Amino acid sequence: MVHATSIVELREHQGSNRDAPCVLVPTMGALHDGHASLIRQGALLARERGWGGGCIVSIFVNPTQFNDPADFERYPRTLDADLRLCQQAGANCVWTPHVTHIYPLGRTIEAPLLPRVAQAPGLEDAYRPGHFEGVCQVVARLFDLVKPKAAIFGEKDWQQLQVIRAMIAILMPGLEIVAGPTLREPDGLAMSSRNRFLSAEDRRRARAISLALCESNAAPDIDQAQANMRRVLASEQIELEYAVVRSEGTLEPGAGPWRALIAARVGSVRLIDNSPWRPSIQPRA
Ligand code: AMP
Repeated sequence: MVHATSIVELREHQGSNRDAPCVLVPTMGALHDGHASLIRQGALLARERGWGGGCIVSIFVNPTQFNDPADFERYPRTLDADLRLCQQAGANCVWTPHVTHIYPLGRTIEAPLLPRVAQAPGLEDAYRPGHFEGVCQVVARLFDLVKPKAAIFGEKDWQQLQVIRAMIAILMPGLEIVAGPTLREPDGLAMSSRNRFLSAEDRRRARAISLALCESNAAPDIDQAQANMRRVLASEQIELEYAVVRSEGTLEPGAGPWRALIAARVGSVRLIDNSPWRPSIQPRA
């Protein structure tokens, strides 16, 4: 596995003419088994398609997507362990660009037009204004530099996946966006780089998030599903941002297929999770 720390080293891995097709897995590091599963998926896809550039993992903590500078500063950085995880998961190259490679001094890197789904009411934009502008900016820039044939994103960040899909449909329609399933801890908590910040007691309480998603699926309609989620989260005094059921593609209220989505703060840690939602068929009385 190659570790490229500059654009020149990335190009060397890709071959000077950059025509070796590859799969890109963009990450911010502090990697866990959820990331590893995306990398394995990417490596398999590249092998199946015979793409000589293989699976490239980018690790870059993007400052423009953090609306809270303190959150950016304390974001975990664990490069040595990340490199080992990438190697074990079958990555061909890990690219760790410097911030000036992504945002060269004196040059404006345009943020692409924000798709409508980024501003679906009451979701991420309401609590992290500007977040998706930063995500679209960095992802478009990474794609521009790497020129992948496919890129893998986790369903864990469901709204982000829809935003990227919508952005790419307009900007780079030839690029395939592939979704990877959410990996969970044995008790159901979705793996996240932020879980390490949970105290032992908050880690126990955080389990209520995946339980709330399960409870949403025991409801016959959307109102009841949302009430079930709020009830389970309140039982652990979890500070809720949103717990809603939306159309899975537009993330607006509307027709199925649906997705249940939660964002909540457990202690000082903001966690998000989601699952498919279907109305449960209630037994006749
Ligand atoms: P991040 O490093 O948090 O930006 O995440 C990089 C990629 O990993 C994103 O596409 C995430 O959706 C994905 N990801 C994060 N957590 C998980 C998880 N538990 N299971 C699968 N993919 C994940």
